[in-house]
Amino acid sequence: MTKGVLYVFSAPSGCGKGTVLTEIRKRLPKLKYSVSATTRAPREGEIDGTHYYFVSRERFDELVETGGMLEHAIFCGNSYGTPKEKVFECLDNGIDVILEIETNGAMMVKESYPEAVMIFMLPPSIEELRRRLENRHSETEEVINGRVNEAKREIAMAENYDYVFVNDSVSEAVDTLYGIMTASKNLVKINQDLIKGVLAKC
Ligand code: 5GP
Repeated sequence: MTKGVLYVFSAPSGCGKGTVLTEIRKRLPKLKYSVSATTRAPREGEIDGTHYYFVSRERFDELVETGGMLEHAIFCGNSYGTPKEKVFECLDNGIDVILEIETNGAMMVKESYPEAVMIFMLPPSIEELRRRLENRHSETEEVINGRVNEAKREIAMAENYDYVFVNDSVSEAVDTLYGIMTASKNLVKINQDLIKGVLAKC
C-alpha cells in the first residue's frame, strides 16, 4: 500500500492558520488532522480532544519521556507536542496527515522524517499580524507582544521549508495550499518506492 503523506504546516500565531486549515479540510475530507497535546489553558470555545488534548505539565512530560511524542516544543511559555502513535498508524494505512505546528517542532519532524512535506504560510506583514492578534481579543497585550516576537523568529525559519506562500486572502491561500498539497504527492522524495518498483521490472 502507498504510504500517506505527512504535511507539516507552520505559520506565525495569528496568521490565519486555523481558518485556512478548516477550509482545506473541507476540500480534502480524507486528510487527518493531528490533534496536539498542550499545557496551555483552553481558549473560549476550544474542546478537549478536538482542538487540543489539554494536559497537565506532568502528563505532558510523561508523554515526552516515554517516547510518545513525534516532536514537541515550548511556545510562549507553554508546551505543545504531537502524539506519535496515531500519526504513523494513519501514514501506514495510506492516510495523509497534517500537523499544524510551530517551527522548532517542525524542524524535529523534518530531521526524523525527511519525507515530510514542509509548508510555511507568511502573514502579509508584521503590522497586519499584530492587528489580527489584537482583533482576536483573547490575549493580553503582553501575550500579543510575545507572539509578535515569536512570529519574527518563525519567519526567519521559513527558508528551511519546501513551500512558502502569503495569506493575503483566505480563498487564495486555500487554493495555493490545495495546489501545494496535491502536487507534493508526486515529489520524488516521497516516491522512491514507486521508482524502485518500476526499475525492478526493467
Ligand atoms: P496556539 O496557542 O495559538 O493554539 O498555538 C501556538 C503555536 O503552537 C502555534 O504556532 C501552533 O501551530 C503551535 N502548535 C500547536 N500544536 C503544536 C504541536 O503539537 N507542536 C508544536 N511544535 N507546535 C504546536
